[in-house]
Amino acid sequence: MHDQHSQTIRTTCPYCGVGCGVLASRDADNTATIQGDPEHPANYGRLCSKGAALGETVDLDGRLLHPVVHGERSDWDTALETVADGLRRIIAEHGPEAVAFYGSGQMLTEDYYVSNKLFKGFIGTPHVDTNSRLCMASAVTGHKRAFGSDTLPGNYADLEEAELLVLAGSNLAWCHPVLYQRVKAAKAENPDMRVVVIDPRRTDTCEIADLHLPLAPGTDVWLWNGLLNHLARDGQVDYVFLEQHTEGFGQAIEMARSGGSVPDVAAQCDLPEGDVVQFFRLFTRTEKTVSLFSQGVNQSSAGTDKVNAIINCHLLTGRIGRPGTGPFSITGQPNAMGGREVGGLANQLAAHMDFAPEDVDRVRRFWDAPNLVTGPGDKAVDLFQAVARGEIKAVWIMSTNPAVSLPDADRVRDALRECELVVVSEAMAHTDTTEVADVLLPALAWGEKDGTVTNSERRISRQRPFLPAPGETRADWQALCAVAGRLGFGDAFAYSGPDQIFDEHVRLSAFENNGRRDFDIGGLAGMARAAYDAMAPRQWPVRADGTDTPRLFADGRYFTESGRARFLPVEPHAPVHRPDPQFPLVLNTGRVRDHWHTMTRTGKAARLSTHAVEPFVQVHPEDARVFGLEQGGLARVGSQWGHFLGRVVLDDGQRRGNVFAPMHWSAQYAVKGRADAVVNPATDPLSGEPEYKHTPVAVAPAHATWHGFMLLRERPAEHPHCAWWAFARGGSFVRYELAGNDDPDALPTVARDLLRNGSDWVEFEDPARGTYRAAWIAEGRLMGCLFMGPLETLPGRHWLASLFDEATLSSADRMALLSGRPPAGAPDVGRTVCSCFGIGENTIVDTIAGGAIEPAAVTAACQAGGNCGSCVPEIQNLILRHAPAANRRTA
Ligand code: SF4
Repeated sequence: MHDQHSQTIRTTCPYCGVGCGVLASRDADNTATIQGDPEHPANYGRLCSKGAALGETVDLDGRLLHPVVHGERSDWDTALETVADGLRRIIAEHGPEAVAFYGSGQMLTEDYYVSNKLFKGFIGTPHVDTNSRLCMASAVTGHKRAFGSDTLPGNYADLEEAELLVLAGSNLAWCHPVLYQRVKAAKAENPDMRVVVIDPRRTDTCEIADLHLPLAPGTDVWLWNGLLNHLARDGQVDYVFLEQHTEGFGQAIEMARSGGSVPDVAAQCDLPEGDVVQFFRLFTRTEKTVSLFSQGVNQSSAGTDKVNAIINCHLLTGRIGRPGTGPFSITGQPNAMGGREVGGLANQLAAHMDFAPEDVDRVRRFWDAPNLVTGPGDKAVDLFQAVARGEIKAVWIMSTNPAVSLPDADRVRDALRECELVVVSEAMAHTDTTEVADVLLPALAWGEKDGTVTNSERRISRQRPFLPAPGETRADWQALCAVAGRLGFGDAFAYSGPDQIFDEHVRLSAFENNGRRDFDIGGLAGMARAAYDAMAPRQWPVRADGTDTPRLFADGRYFTESGRARFLPVEPHAPVHRPDPQFPLVLNTGRVRDHWHTMTRTGKAARLSTHAVEPFVQVHPEDARVFGLEQGGLARVGSQWGHFLGRVVLDDGQRRGNVFAPMHWSAQYAVKGRADAVVNPATDPLSGEPEYKHTPVAVAPAHATWHGFMLLRERPAEHPHCAWWAFARGGSFVRYELAGNDDPDALPTVARDLLRNGSDWVEFEDPARGTYRAAWIAEGRLMGCLFMGPLETLPGRHWLASLFDEATLSSADRMALLSGRPPAGAPDVGRTVCSCFGIGENTIVDTIAGGAIEPAAVTAACQAGGNCGSCVPEIQNLILRHAPAANRRTA
């Protein structure tokens, strides 16, 4: 919908699976004005810090604006011909299975549909997979085992309506912040609502937890089997539902019983027995229960079993298909669900059809496909291992960065370097994956794309363009269709726009469906372009009668052969790789609050680059003591697959023996910060999802003789050459965190190499303390500063950063500059906590000291937490740490 008066476009956020509606308009300065869409049913006007900062990510800095072939600027004809020639040759010499496609939950459904059709139906390779494999493939497999279909039964309103919300393996506060805000508001409205968080880490989500179960990693099946056993013993069984609508209970309960009684379960999970009892009692007595699960459940070598262990408990109690009940898989990406709809996973065919002969026949007839595959292909980890073995010789990668995000990422990058033909469709010129590509195809970015996405509650929303396509960029579907034409398949790919592709996708979903498949959006068939453009969010299935479906399974009918939901007997087993004396700790990887995936977009936004500025590793203080780590020091995290460096952050919310690291940093943002280089490539045998949450590692101090940082008004042509650097954007400057192993006497020499413009700098060196400081002022403005020395000598960065906003430095600021500290009387706001308003930790602590002892009072006094609310849990933690005990209030 295009508002003629304000030029405001209704579109959808490109980040997480909540799928928030956004009102966007283009500004003159290459930014955009962004607001939450008050009419979108996912967010009703709310946005989190990432969504609110979208306007800072739409400039053309760093964009890939023209095709590149073998490192040289090219044109579309040449690039497309190179791709088509390469595919043709490799298929002729090695067969179609030597070709692969790797997509992403960032792709629009229309692009996804065309890629799946081209590769599986016409090129004839089954090796089509997506980075959604990395986040929710276990949920897909668990759903299909239990329901006979990949069906998410409920919707977001069920989370608000529940009286018990179990959050399993989900840091909802950081990873799905708007949904977290909805839950938090619902809990405030309903004092009877209880929240249980099951997570080895105490995360910000625990702010709303009535009970936190920090179970030993990988023991979820023991816990849920124990609950199933408890529910059966306690008589909390919906016998009518069990009898009429399920099958397989006998084997499931027999397996669950073998896990023993509550004390056995508590011992296996390393939880206090009383807490396990409390959880079981809460679940037993609360009819309206939703169990939401995410990557902490899915990303495991037993992810599918964990999913089914959760579903089993809902089947036994009949808590599914009714308001305020159900298992609920929340997807990581904005269009993970859309990818599942089109068949973007290697073990799906299309439109929620798999490889049963009748499905293959149906899709072949619908597409009139000459080379339709008849069985599943390699899943993501296997796919890149096949590239490494030379079996797959050509891979087209779209909208994703596997050289950073796959487990054992160094091997993936090496494999791509050796691959005969790597085609990458990307919006950004420089990513770790574009650096190993043979052909780069410039893609549209968010704000320019035109199509649909489906969020975690099955809601299809339009992503509409509000910016013109820059340079020579094209829609991904156009690039795919152009290659299809060159391969001789043009007639089947002669789309005039995304509306035509969507209509074909709609018709395939309804083709010979007759209620046998859950995914049916036939009620949307035949939309003209104007109707497609104006389409409001729709929740599938949307069958021929044209109505949305907020909830499935209310009738107790499932998509299994018998029509009954299946219990699965799930046997607990330990993660594939266990800690040992060489690698005694367990690495858990995940996300931070303000960054998204490999930072290609969020890394552009200054306000998203202040909360976490460099790769880090969170360690329990006791483990830090054992392994000689200190707060703020550098650590080397190593496994048998690789290593990365990160800043040590002590956190008593970590379980002993476990460490956490973010997955976001690539070689574009830090010299050795790629956490997935360390992650083991073990996968779930059913879903193929990698075990990102459990890699045995060793963590040791990384030797550095000096630490430092450098703030520069202009981004240098090259990153610095030193043992450690991490890059972040500020508003009027760029920031490097640095460390090195040089002799302290050599700091001036090292500094000159870092500065590359030594003559204009004023310097201060203190050999006795091993410090070196320099600043460059031109025409009264601060152009740069560099501080080096022992960790404890380094000043905070925030005051210095604020000087880049000054048109002319005051004489007091000049005097204070090389001290790194504000002149007497000027406050140092400290590390940024509230990204929306740029409020620092010191300001918040001062506000607390001034008597603000509730988050709302802090907001009223200094604004922090007053916009998206993503930082409110952190404010709450600061209150707990800094408010006088007698005055504390909990949120
Ligand atoms: Fe975007 Fe945040 Fe909404 Fe997720 S919760 S869709 S990141 S605004």
